[in-house]
Amino acid sequence: MQPNGRDRPFRDPCLTYPSGGGSCRAMRVVVDLELCEGNAVCASVAPEIFVVGDDDLARVKLEPVPEALRAKVEVAVRRCPRQALAIKE
Ligand code: SF4
Repeated sequence: MQPNGRDRPFRDPCLTYPSGGGSCRAMRVVVDLELCEGNAVCASVAPEIFVVGDDDLARVKLEPVPEALRAKVEVAVRRCPRQALAIKE
């Protein structure tokens, strides 16, 4: 099992086909640390992207967010009970 929870290694199409095809948009996600309450909903939904530290604040582990993980990040943004996550494109 790979760290991405799949049987095969994750391959980011943006790295495979850099600047080609128009399908690779650089996506970032930011945590508003003033709002975050550390309940780790985001890390539960997208552990490849978020981690909650000993200070009970979420951090982004991976930037830019690979396109293949966009859907998981969008779910995490929707489920964050403090609305502390925002996608930046
Ligand atoms: S779900 Fe929201 S409030 Fe909870 S740890 Fe993640 S960013 Fe913070």
